[in-house]
Amino acid sequence: AKKAVLGPLVGAVDQGTSSTRFLVFNSKTAELLSHHQVEIKQEFPREGWVEQDPKEILHSVYECIEKTCEKLGQLNIDISNIKAIGVSNQRETTVVWDKLTGEPLYNAVVWLDLRTQSTVESLSKRIPGNNNFVKSKTGLPLSTYFSAVKLRWLLDNVRKVQKAVEEDRALFGTVDSWLIWSLTGGASGGVHCTDVTNASRTMLFNIHSLEWDKELCEFFEIPMKILPNVRSSSEIYGLMKAGALEGVPISGCLGDQSAALVGQMCFQDGQAKNTYGTGCFLLCNTGRKCVFSEHGLLTTVAYKLGRDKPVYYALEGSVAIAGAVIRWLRDNLGIIKTSEEIENLAKEVGTSYGCYFVPAFSGLYAPYWEPSARGIICGLTQFTNKCHIAFAALEAVCFQTREILDAMNRDCGIPLSHLQVDGGMTNNKILMQLQADILYIPVVKPSMPETTALGAAMAAGAAEGVGVWSLEPEDLSAVTMERFEPQINAEESEIRYSTWKKAVMKSMGWVT
Ligand code: ADP
Repeated sequence: AKKAVLGPLVGAVDQGTSSTRFLVFNSKTAELLSHHQVEIKQEFPREGWVEQDPKEILHSVYECIEKTCEKLGQLNIDISNIKAIGVSNQRETTVVWDKLTGEPLYNAVVWLDLRTQSTVESLSKRIPGNNNFVKSKTGLPLSTYFSAVKLRWLLDNVRKVQKAVEEDRALFGTVDSWLIWSLTGGASGGVHCTDVTNASRTMLFNIHSLEWDKELCEFFEIPMKILPNVRSSSEIYGLMKAGALEGVPISGCLGDQSAALVGQMCFQDGQAKNTYGTGCFLLCNTGRKCVFSEHGLLTTVAYKLGRDKPVYYALEGSVAIAGAVIRWLRDNLGIIKTSEEIENLAKEVGTSYGCYFVPAFSGLYAPYWEPSARGIICGLTQFTNKCHIAFAALEAVCFQTREILDAMNRDCGIPLSHLQVDGGMTNNKILMQLQADILYIPVVKPSMPETTALGAAMAAGAAEGVGVWSLEPEDLSAVTMERFEPQINAEESEIRYSTWKKAVMKSMGWVT
C-alpha cells in the first residue's frame, strides 16, 4: 500500500447516544489512522424515560482517548502530532452539574426521553401571542425532544438541582458543554461553553440573533445564569487538562448532525446528507438564510466555522428511532446477538412478506410530530418469522427516510438527485440497497463512514490559531464513495410505500 504523507493530526471525540468514540485523522488526506469505541449504557427507569450517567460518558471519553493513543504508539505514530481536538455529540441530551464539585446533579436526560410530555402539554396552553412564538425564534416545535423542557423537569422535580441553582452552584449544558467543561479542568477552571449548533437544539436559543433568548427563558422559567456561553463551532475553547493529550487545544464543537454535514462537505445551498445512527437525521444546507418548513421539518443552525465566519442554516428531518430498533431487537427480543447479524437474517428472506414495523417507540418525530404514536408490528401471518421482522425493521428505517425526503423536496422545490449517507447503520449493505430502491434515487456512501467525527476534526483543525485543515475537497483524498443504484421499479416501490403509510396511521393514538 502506498504510504500517505503524514500531516498534522487532529483528534475527534464522537459522543453518540449508543457509544463514544475517539478517532485520529491525518489532516492532509482525512485518512483515519486509529480509533477506539466504547458502548454507553442506557437506563430506562420508567416507561418512556431514557437516562445516561454523565460520569460514565466522561470516563468513556478518557478511555477512548487513552486507548487510541496506545494504538497510535503501536503504529509508531507520535501523539505529539495531534494538534487539536474536536467534539461532536448527541444533541439535546440535558445535564446539570455542580460547578464546585464537578458532580452531576442527576443523570443525563436523553433526547429520546418522554417524561416531559405533560410539561409540553401545559406549556403549549400558555404560549404567549400566536402559536409561532417558539417556532419563529428557535425553528423548533414545542416537543419533549428539546433541552428546555428537560431542564424545566429537572428544576421542578430534583431537589439537588433546585438547591444548587439557589446557591449559585448549578451549571446546565448539553453533552458538549459537560465534556468541554470537564476536559478543560472541571471544578478547577473548566470552560463553560457550547457552540451555536448545540445551542440551537435547546429551544432557548434565538437562531436569528444567535443569543440565548430572554423571552424564551422567561417562558420556560429558566435562570439564564446557568446557561453556557455560546461560541462558534470552530475556535479554541480551552486546552485538555489531563490525560495523554494534556495541553492540546479543543477547538471544534458541533452537534453530531451538523458535524456529519461538515464531514460530508455539504457546504453549498441544497446539499444534504442523511445519518443513520440511533435515530436518523436528514439535513439540507439552506445557506445563510433561515428556511421555515411547511411540512414538519425543523430549522436549525448548520454551523458557523469561526468567530468571524457567517452562520449557515439547515432544514432537518428528524426520525427518533432507526438503529435503536436494531438495538431493541437485540436487547429486548434477543433475536440477534449483535447489530450486524440483522443483515444475514434479513438476507435469508429478502422480503418482509407483507409485515410492517413502525418503531414509534418515542412517538413519531418528522414529519408527523405525533407524541401519541407507539410502535406496532402489523401484517403478521402464521408464515411470518423473525427474518421477516428483521427485514421489516430495516425497511422501516428506509420508509421513514422516504417520508422526510419527500417533505424536504416539497419545502426546497428542487428534488435531491442522490442521497449522501453515513452513520453506524450504513455498514449494512441490504439497508443501503433497500434505501435506494425505496427512494428511487442513488444512495452514495463514503468509504470511511465516520463522517460525524471527521466533521468535528475538520472544524477543530480549521480553527484560528490551529490552522492545519483548509476545508478544501483535496484534503479528503483518502475518502472514496460507494454508490447503490435503485434496482426495483418505481411502481413496486410506491405500493410498498403506501402500505407503510397505512401502518403509520395505525401507530397513532395509543396514548391519550
Ligand atoms: P449513534 O451515533 O447514535 O451512537 P451510530 O452511528 O454509532 O449511532 O450507530 C449505531 C446504531 O446503528 C445502533 O443503534 C446499532 O444498533 C445500529 N447498527 C450498527 N451496525 C448495524 C448494522 N450492521 N445493521 C443495522 N444496524 C446497525
